[in-house]
Amino acid sequence: MPAILCHCGERVSYGSIPNSAEWLIVSDVDFDALTDPATDTVPTEDLFNQMKHALLCPHCGRLWVYWNGFAADPQPYSPEPQGTSRPHPKESPHA
Ligand SMILES: [Zn+2]
Repeated sequence: MPAILCHCGERVSYGSIPNSAEWLIVSDVDFDALTDPATDTVPTEDLFNQMKHALLCPHCGRLWVYWNGFAADPQPYSPEPQGTSRPHPKESPHA
């Protein structure tokens, strides 16, 4: 079964369907482009084809995003410690 070895040492499998470690991501722009304005729905197959796949390491919380499909290496993203992840408030350019 295909898997990646996370930087923390955890082996994260992506071979099973459905997969509890796998998440699917779609941009808001792409989602909007797929939406049928007459019915306000998105065809499931089209949506699935547009989505990027990501694996969430159950041990460290690192997210591995396959931005360019499974043939290319995934991009890892590490969570920051709790309490440090709040984004800075937006500053108005007119303030
Ligand atoms: Zn990990």
